[in-house]
Amino acid sequence: MSLRIIFCVTAFLICVLCSTSAFAYPVKITNGKDSVNIGLSVEYFEDKHSSLTLKDIIKLNNNNKFSTTTKVPLNFGYSKATYWVSFSVLGDTYSDSGWLLDLPYAPLDYITLYIPNGKGDYIEYRNGDKVPFAVKHIEYKNAVFLLGQNLIPYQEYYIRVSSEGSINVPLFLWTGAGFAEHINIVQSAMGMYFGILMALAIYNLFLYASVRDRDFALCSFAIISYTLVQGSYYGLAGQFLWPNLIWWSNISLLIFAILLFFSIAVFTRSFLNLIHNSKRFYKILSFFIYFYAALFPGSFLLGYRVASIITATMGIILILFVFMAALFVYARGYKPARFMLLAWTVFLMGMLLLLLKLLGVLPHVFITEYSVHIGFILNSMLLSFALSDKVNMLRQEKDQAQQEALAHLEESEKMKTIFLEETEKLVDERTMELENVNAKLMELASIDVLTGLSNRRVFNEGIEKEFKRAKRVEAEISIIIVDVDYFKNYNDYYGHLKGDVVLAELAEIFRFSTNRSTDILARYGGEEFALVLSDTNEEGAMMIAESLREKVEKARISHKVSPIGFVTVSCGVASLKPSMQDRLEDFINMADQALYKAKNAGRNKVIKSSL
Ligand code: GH3
Ligand code: MG
Ligand code: MG
Repeated sequence: MSLRIIFCVTAFLICVLCSTSAFAYPVKITNGKDSVNIGLSVEYFEDKHSSLTLKDIIKLNNNNKFSTTTKVPLNFGYSKATYWVSFSVLGDTYSDSGWLLDLPYAPLDYITLYIPNGKGDYIEYRNGDKVPFAVKHIEYKNAVFLLGQNLIPYQEYYIRVSSEGSINVPLFLWTGAGFAEHINIVQSAMGMYFGILMALAIYNLFLYASVRDRDFALCSFAIISYTLVQGSYYGLAGQFLWPNLIWWSNISLLIFAILLFFSIAVFTRSFLNLIHNSKRFYKILSFFIYFYAALFPGSFLLGYRVASIITATMGIILILFVFMAALFVYARGYKPARFMLLAWTVFLMGMLLLLLKLLGVLPHVFITEYSVHIGFILNSMLLSFALSDKVNMLRQEKDQAQQEALAHLEESEKMKTIFLEETEKLVDERTMELENVNAKLMELASIDVLTGLSNRRVFNEGIEKEFKRAKRVEAEISIIIVDVDYFKNYNDYYGHLKGDVVLAELAEIFRFSTNRSTDILARYGGEEFALVLSDTNEEGAMMIAESLREKVEKARISHKVSPIGFVTVSCGVASLKPSMQDRLEDFINMADQALYKAKNAGRNKVIKSSL
């Protein structure tokens, strides 16, 4: 696309060039016309050594040593020579508001206008950016001369021009009224132009303040540099900012141009992230940055003309590299480069046209005069947009990364919950298992394995508790100790295993012989059982003991080595309403004694303690 635009522009320029005439003739003033471009009516002479006086020049002109031009306006590029330009008018030229000669190219150093006084003499007026504003006819951004109400017909007007910068000599004749109107338009356009540039610069500064992306500040810096270049170029900076600093007015254009190219290189290097995206372009742009940084003080040594030529030439190369870098990086997939590429495509054309004009290759016409303005405004806008686009893109990338991180976090959170739930379940299961095992262990610890009754430990704890309670509430408590009769014999005769079976059978008989929850039935010793009966008096206890004995007897478990013939038991019963000084041991002993008596009484008996 850019190639097509370049082609069209070139074609247009060729047409403009070819349409100019090769003959100079006096300016013909047509009545009622407010302005005349006298570019085609001038002739010029190159004073190579800047040594000629007006008199020499008049002589040379009379000898037809002046040349005509096909370039409108005259454009000599960078030249050390002094140029003499002449023109003449014919016809009735009277204008109420007077005539002005406008030379709208502000960077020219020295301009001297020689106005014929009609009597063969000349009046001399000076202008140019090395001339103080006070000396000038009109305080205006570029050279303007007052010529009076009547122009002197058929007499040559001479303009002497010399400058260290590029020498362009656009020339216009204006009536005072026409010029006033023209200024109005030019100033409005300038105001708008510089207004937009400053707005863009400030806009980027604001963005820098809020987004804190260095690129915005660099972009703003480049736009400000460009604004100053343009301000100097049009003489506006000289007119408004430093009207009395002539030396500075003269070099400001060069200094700002150096600053501009410097900032473009810095901005591009940073914006395209060349340090990561392309080492080669990073080095190239770094070279330009150092080059322009060195040229800044170097220009004072080199002199204005040489420094200007170097700045402009290197500027063209830099812009081409900037364009290539954007293209390269974009082709490599760095998306933020896309609007920068567009911005520079637009600007490149304008810039190229301006530089070619400054070097004298292209003429001073509308397209070369204003394309660069439009180009740069579009460029600045697109670059600002490219920056926002880039920031937006980076933010999107960040958002995406953040979302991914969040998703990961959620995932791991979920995993954690699942893990915790599983662990909790596992722990619950394990706890339950442990509780079961514990219960079993407890059971094992408190239950006699052979008979399934409580063991001696439970008996000891139980009787101690109940005995204390009986003391406290002054209740009666009873204990029955049951011992199997002739059991040693049984074991000897039937064997130990059979003996165990009998013990288990007896346990089953005893198990259901009491029904109070506070009663404790336990295996007391080898073949001894004990029953603790709370809140039970002797009478009650005796009844229970008797029923136990009877049940065993009725079970008729064969016992061949017992005089009775069946397995029987003897019971010792003790009852007490314990007082505070009574001891548990004594109480148990009472039952033991009773049991001993039951044995002695022939066994299969229930005897109560006689105390
Ligand atoms: P007595 O009528 O005087 O009580 O005569 P006895 O043979 O029962 O005498 P004693 O009470 O002293 O004997 C206890 C016997 O009980 C000794 C032992 O063989 C038996 N025995 C003790 N514990 C167990 C046991 O757990 N299993 C079996 N099979 N026999 C036991
Ligand atoms: Mg015994
Ligand atoms: Mg016994």
